[in-house]
Amino acid sequence: MNEPGFMRRACVAASTALLFLSAGCATVDTAPEANTPAANTFEAAPARNWRGGAMVAAANPLAVDAGLKVLGAGGSAVDAAIAIQAVLGLVEPQSSGIGGGAFLLHYDAATGDVVAYDGREVAPVGASSTMFLDESGKPLSFPAAIQSGRSVGVPGVVAMLELAHREHGRLAWAQPWQAAIELAERGFAVSPRMREIAQMAERFTTLAPDARRYLTTDGKTILPVGHVLRNTDYAATLRQIATQGARAFYSGPIAQSIIAAVAQAPRPGTLSLADLASYRAVKHEPVCRPYRIYEVCGMTPPSSGGIAVLSVLGILANFDMAANDSNTPQGWHLLIEAQRLAYADRDKYVGDDRFVHVPVDGLLDTNYLQSRAALISRSRAMATVSAGTPPGAPPSGADHTGPSTGTSHFVVVDARGNVVSMTTTVESLFGSQRMASGFFLNNQLTDFSFRAVDDAGVAIANAPAPGKKPRSSMSPTLVFKDGQFLLGVGSPGGNSIIGYVSKTLVGVLDWGLTPDAAIELPNVVARGPVLVEESRFDAPLLEQLKSLGHTFRPGRGAEGSGLHAIMVRPDGTLEGGADSRREGEARALDTAGP
Ligand code: GLU
Repeated sequence: MNEPGFMRRACVAASTALLFLSAGCATVDTAPEANTPAANTFEAAPARNWRGGAMVAAANPLAVDAGLKVLGAGGSAVDAAIAIQAVLGLVEPQSSGIGGGAFLLHYDAATGDVVAYDGREVAPVGASSTMFLDESGKPLSFPAAIQSGRSVGVPGVVAMLELAHREHGRLAWAQPWQAAIELAERGFAVSPRMREIAQMAERFTTLAPDARRYLTTDGKTILPVGHVLRNTDYAATLRQIATQGARAFYSGPIAQSIIAAVAQAPRPGTLSLADLASYRAVKHEPVCRPYRIYEVCGMTPPSSGGIAVLSVLGILANFDMAANDSNTPQGWHLLIEAQRLAYADRDKYVGDDRFVHVPVDGLLDTNYLQSRAALISRSRAMATVSAGTPPGAPPSGADHTGPSTGTSHFVVVDARGNVVSMTTTVESLFGSQRMASGFFLNNQLTDFSFRAVDDAGVAIANAPAPGKKPRSSMSPTLVFKDGQFLLGVGSPGGNSIIGYVSKTLVGVLDWGLTPDAAIELPNVVARGPVLVEESRFDAPLLEQLKSLGHTFRPGRGAEGSGLHAIMVRPDGTLEGGADSRREGEARALDTAGP
């Protein structure tokens, strides 16, 4: 079902009701209504004579191949997204897969509609506000919480892709899955990054038994680069999804294998067949705001990504960023200060808006952001930063969920000019490290605050609850100019995503860089202690920033981006960007033929 004019309605209500079970296991057939109407005034226009061609920018060349193959067969951007996701789940299982969740922003070139699909994981009916506390009431350590059944939310990717395909697919549902099925049966060469992340997971948490079986040759030796890994269980799972649809995932043998994996010790979870059967992907109006001569659209709650990225931009709109480019300490100083203010608000006010009031309009109110910008001094870093009180703000405790390194972002433009910007995740490295039917299960519920109230006893917006979605930072973004699609971008990186994406947007929109050049700029993430990618900064520039009073947290921490972007050049052709910090690429569909 396509709904022309979706963007034009003020209401944010999902078009597909979220079904979830109450504690008494009675079926409730409408979701608690999202309570945060975002006052968009923007209407994108249908594409004018699209001649840009088609392109994929994704985190692994095999996934790019699969996406381009689908586009070459006349598939839509959503068809290609299915193929890309299916292959990423195989070749980049450390980051995303069908056992996880995702957000997808879609631009429909025929109607101009911009829609946000929400495939975020949901906490099971058995979840509670104390699920991440130990017997003495103290928060569990991150490794203990991650490697548990409690961390696994109902996976949402498959349902979300099915919903998006129903509305925007051109090929039969079964077709885009084929490349991944063949690759899983034939085997693929383990990439340097997959090996590196498996080693990292072994160091960070010690691999859980399923991950150890899958990622080592003999229980000890991590799969070497180039090792040909086959996964016939995954192929069989995808085949069932391809032939029967998403219901093959949410009920029957695949669902049973998920429940069995979650129920294992240590720290078994409560996820049930009823939780799986009642999952529904939903659709939102994205949050869009003007930025200079552009319109920027991002993800609404339960992601904080769109709001926080737009907060950064809304604060920077009060400064002349073009005059303070990437070679100037002023440019970076302003970006850091704007991030600090935006992160403080995001930490305090954003959670699942079906459960807590999120003051989206207040947080993005022009006057409010002007008042936030007025806190910035041009000559001195702010000594401290705290959340403001935007119009309509409820009392709320702040929380700091931990950093993570899973996740993948890809952008697709199809031959008709439709666009997908999708961020997808199993949360941590290989998710919970538990496997079912050939794929890893997410640990997305550790994105909840582990505590329900802060030190002052104020309820935390992002506390866990049954049927609730954990707050995300994922920031799939679409930028428009004169109503026409200009740029799609996003990144993995946990809560650092907001820093990575806002830097890239400033790089392209204010500093006039190509997507690649903007992606390769040093990352800065100013949430609490400021993280900078020192190796990419000119030493004198860094010294000038320090002399403005900035202190940077030593060590790594800002290198976790995996930014992928596609932009329309002034001549109407496409230009892609792929982050050299990972192993992806941006490649156009060669329409010349063999
Ligand atoms: N789970 C995180 C989120 O939804 C993303 C994790 C990552 O990017 O590594 O914000």
